[in-house]
Amino acid sequence: MSDMTAEPVISARDVRVWYGTTRGAIQAVDGVSFDLRPGETLGLVGESGCGKSTLGRGLMGLLPEGAKRDGEVRYRGRDIFAMSAKEAYGLRGSDLGMIFQEPLTRLNPLMRISEHFEETITQHEPKLSKDEVRTRALEALRMMGIPPTRYRSYPHEFSGGMRQRLMIALALVLRPAFVVADEPTTALDVLVEAQIVQILNDLRRNFDTALLLITHNVGIVAEACDRVAVMYAGRIVEQGTVADVFSDPQHPYTRELLASTISLSTTGLRFIPGSPPDLVDPPAGCRFHPRCPDAMRICATTSPVPTTREAGGTVECWLRGPRDLTPAERAPLAHEELSDADEA
Ligand code: SF4
Repeated sequence: MSDMTAEPVISARDVRVWYGTTRGAIQAVDGVSFDLRPGETLGLVGESGCGKSTLGRGLMGLLPEGAKRDGEVRYRGRDIFAMSAKEAYGLRGSDLGMIFQEPLTRLNPLMRISEHFEETITQHEPKLSKDEVRTRALEALRMMGIPPTRYRSYPHEFSGGMRQRLMIALALVLRPAFVVADEPTTALDVLVEAQIVQILNDLRRNFDTALLLITHNVGIVAEACDRVAVMYAGRIVEQGTVADVFSDPQHPYTRELLASTISLSTTGLRFIPGSPPDLVDPPAGCRFHPRCPDAMRICATTSPVPTTREAGGTVECWLRGPRDLTPAERAPLAHEELSDADEA
């Protein structure tokens, strides 16, 4: 468990990311704030298209051309968003690491694994000898359970699970203090998935790494994270400790997300009706209101503001405050009104 009194490694405040399109700006991340301390893992969950990956890439400065970002992200007190591109680039690898979801597309098929490591390590530590680089790389591989005999292999000679472990070894060889892992277990079978979760757990225990784990897999968050942030339509709608949020979800979207998770006790498939909104023209008020089983009149017109949960964390829903609603505001939103809002 991380030390909750330690200074945060990363402090994000009111982070926004948007893309220009011919239809208008897509507000993919819209005012996200969180802190992450050494050794702490924050799970970022939500359906596809809710802005999770965009947030992860935005924090690392890895957004596609044309994307814009705003807000403040402090890494050990220094604002990454205010740095020059060169300065921010210098932090990548040695301070900030990223594990991507498609390892094969990130590894150069023409380069041996040894060359990938040499390139990564010497970029940041050019004075290291070849032997020292090799020793570091083999240690990183050993930690991921990859034998030294594979050091000179090519990426295509590895299985999917091994390639993902390779990506993790490459991301961690310089011991970054903050790592974003974007769907690191997608497309892996459950056994390999369990190995990766174990590796991520060891990582924070042994090196005090702060980890932002982006996933749509709620089960992985339960196993590997201290805290969870639930993202919907570009905003964090609920966050808190995993134990607290999962045992007492207060936002209807969190409840629906947990109810649609498959577990050993699942007897029937359940899913959240509808789909996340078009972020070029999101619904007015609460963005979840067209899909929310508890929507009230006020939800269709006025955005809820974050309220502190009793056990810490925050929730952004009119059902939870911050003020008493009038009877007219509290009136349930009828189905016809929901469909109208959907079409609007
Ligand atoms: Fe549902 Fe209203 Fe809460 Fe949004 S603010 S989640 S629509 S109850």
